[in-house]
Amino acid sequence: MIEGSCHCGAVRLTLPETPEDLGSCNCSLCRRIGGLWGYYRPDEVGVSDPDGRLTGYVQGDATLTTWHCATCGCTTHWSPRDPAYERMGVNLRLFDPADWEPLPRRLIDGASW
Ligand SMILES: [Zn+2]
Repeated sequence: MIEGSCHCGAVRLTLPETPEDLGSCNCSLCRRIGGLWGYYRPDEVGVSDPDGRLTGYVQGDATLTTWHCATCGCTTHWSPRDPAYERMGVNLRLFDPADWEPLPRRLIDGASW
């Protein structure tokens, strides 16, 4: 299991293992965030937010909520708005670089969707 947190530590995330690769997406939101996404089933990801700092942002097409910490601003993850969709993305940049820097990066051309 690996654990990461936002900069201020209010939000903590746990993952069962590192992902096989990281998604780097050039869509209008991801390119601004600069997130490197690892993909998991929602039931694999632990999200701890005891002080209720997570704030959601829903993009225009309303399929995802992108979450950030209201205190320090770090984007932590995105989750599907449809609970039947069994995939979410976690920003691996919140984890120890030793866990994710060696992983291959897959460019996702979200800007063209
Ligand atoms: Zn924070």
